[in-house]
Amino acid sequence: MEKMVITCAITGAETTREQQPNLPVTPEEIADATYEAYLAGAAIVHVHARNNDGTPTQDPQVFKRIIELIRAKCDIVIELTTGGAVGMTAEERVKVVALEPDMASLDCGTVNFGNDYIVNTLPDMRHFATEMEKYKVHPTLECFDLSHIYASHILIKEGLIKPPYHYGFVLNVPGGVKYEPDVVTFFLSKLPKESYCTLMGIGRSCLPMHYGAIANNCFIRVGFEDNIFMSKGVLAKSNTELVERAVKISRDAGLEIAKPADVRKLFNLRNI
Ligand code: ZN
Repeated sequence: MEKMVITCAITGAETTREQQPNLPVTPEEIADATYEAYLAGAAIVHVHARNNDGTPTQDPQVFKRIIELIRAKCDIVIELTTGGAVGMTAEERVKVVALEPDMASLDCGTVNFGNDYIVNTLPDMRHFATEMEKYKVHPTLECFDLSHIYASHILIKEGLIKPPYHYGFVLNVPGGVKYEPDVVTFFLSKLPKESYCTLMGIGRSCLPMHYGAIANNCFIRVGFEDNIFMSKGVLAKSNTELVERAVKISRDAGLEIAKPADVRKLFNLRNI
């Protein structure tokens, strides 16, 4: 693929308004921020939802509203989280797949997450993959660790996930694997054929990982879920500002920016 696919993770589950005053929280704010990010060059939006008090929710009704509001504005590829937030049950997390989004994240294992930890057992992962297949939702295989890549091989071998595969490496989570160029190269060497990979750099690794993505023919994810700063101590004004920077760096490297239609074609997603 000669084009750069940019995902924007608008809200996430962890970031607060106290940390980032411009964090989109309500379905309306999330849809508006998504549309702006789309106009700036994002082809995929990664969606988490919040209650009115800002706490994370996995309520399908809230996600349904967000999807409707985004769809009224544009054809951006919609990827819902099934990671949810720390402490949610697997059953609670997977329900949103029945809304038939274009894509959904599929966490490929258990990992430290700051002072907390995320639990994903193989039986849960099989269940998530089966639900995604049932509703024709393309999984983004989120790997925080090398063992997660090997766990994805098991799902593939069992026929639960079909190519072309979309991986996401989530690096620099406190307590997890750091972003280092040789880590990315090594992880990539363990992916099956017909794989594409989006690099998700948490915190200060966000910008270096843009360059890592360009160097390794990977895709880029930005957004307030992963990083709220433009530079040390300088908050980003919006998700869009982060998308614009990723677009500029990619264009400077001679890459075209992928449209949602390019991503639909690449991963055989439904046309809308
Ligand atoms: Zn997420």
